Amino acid sequence: MNRDQFIQRIIPQSIIESAAYQVVDSTGMIKLDAMENPYSWPDALRSSLANRLAACELNRYPDPSARAVRTSIKSWMKIPNALSVLFGNGSDEIIALLISSLIGSGRSVCAPDPSFVMFKVLAKQFRVPFHALPLDEEMDLDTGQWIEGLNSNDAGIVFVPQPNNPTGNLFTDGRLRAVVESTDALVVIDEAYTAFTDADYIDWAEKYPNVLIMRTLSKIGLAGSRFGLLIGAPEWISEYDKLRLPYNINTLSQAAVVFALEHSEILEEQSAAIRSERQRLTLELGHRNVKVWPSEANFILVEMPKGRAFEIFEGLKSVNILVKCLDGVHPALADTLRITVGIPCESDAMLMVLDQLLDIGR
Ligand SMILES: *Cc1c(COP(=O)(O)O)cnc(C)c1O
Repeated sequence: MNRDQFIQRIIPQSIIESAAYQVVDSTGMIKLDAMENPYSWPDALRSSLANRLAACELNRYPDPSARAVRTSIKSWMKIPNALSVLFGNGSDEIIALLISSLIGSGRSVCAPDPSFVMFKVLAKQFRVPFHALPLDEEMDLDTGQWIEGLNSNDAGIVFVPQPNNPTGNLFTDGRLRAVVESTDALVVIDEAYTAFTDADYIDWAEKYPNVLIMRTLSKIGLAGSRFGLLIGAPEWISEYDKLRLPYNINTLSQAAVVFALEHSEILEEQSAAIRSERQRLTLELGHRNVKVWPSEANFILVEMPKGRAFEIFEGLKSVNILVKCLDGVHPALADTLRITVGIPCESDAMLMVLDQLLDIGR
């Protein structure tokens, strides 16, 4: 057999037909596409971080239970002592770990439709059945269909981003509660955008036997450190901890996160700035000929005039402004762009070009 034949024989057809996760090259662009914190740190702080990292012993394996980070993150996030925490290499790794626990069980993974793509991508990768559960016209949970869907699809785990990505809205509290109370699935409330909303469901992990909370440091300003958390009752966390790869959080990430949390006021100031810029950008966009969805996250979903989203996306890109075009991804997202909240001058640049592009089509 030649190499191609070996590959055909060894790699399952479903993988051969799939595509790797695509990230466009954004060198030199105004990046309003990936929900990153646009702010950096003062030079003095970067130098002391460099010193801290220089002291790391890279010849040794990392602390497998990441004790230093655990202490600082539990206190900064005010995680109750009764709850345990598992760390992942980004919350993507935690999603993978949770889904992998269902392999061969016959039970399915569910998530809102539309929502964060990794739920479906990873379920597919692990060949765990995936079911998308519908949202209503307000992008809120359709409780009736959810309860029915979780039951009829024998759901093992349902992921609920709160607020949701890419829509940006919070699901109604009462509806989420109805779903949690009616299902025998594990409900993972994904609080990736916790820094930009007052909503906080950590106490549900204590109150409900079938709720875990997932968070990440990516959106608040540490995307490069790849650090996610799963928070819940020790009985749940100790089971999932058996599936975690040893040393999954590397030494440099552990040290960088501890350092960042020693200066957490910077992260907090930056997320406050992002929140107020979100408000300004929402108002500004509202003065234009577009529909703006309310957002509790660090991005805004905007519906462009009919049929024009891709052309406007391309127009912005041609002057080095990168946003996310969601037109064609899902019927409810027709004509939409998802715009990450950047620093004010980035918003202004984007708005100026957007005005020109909207004018052309008039
Ligand atoms: C960005 C995002 C994540 C993934 O975050 P990482 O920690 O960077 O892997 C998870 N869930 C939702 C809803 C997100 O938007």
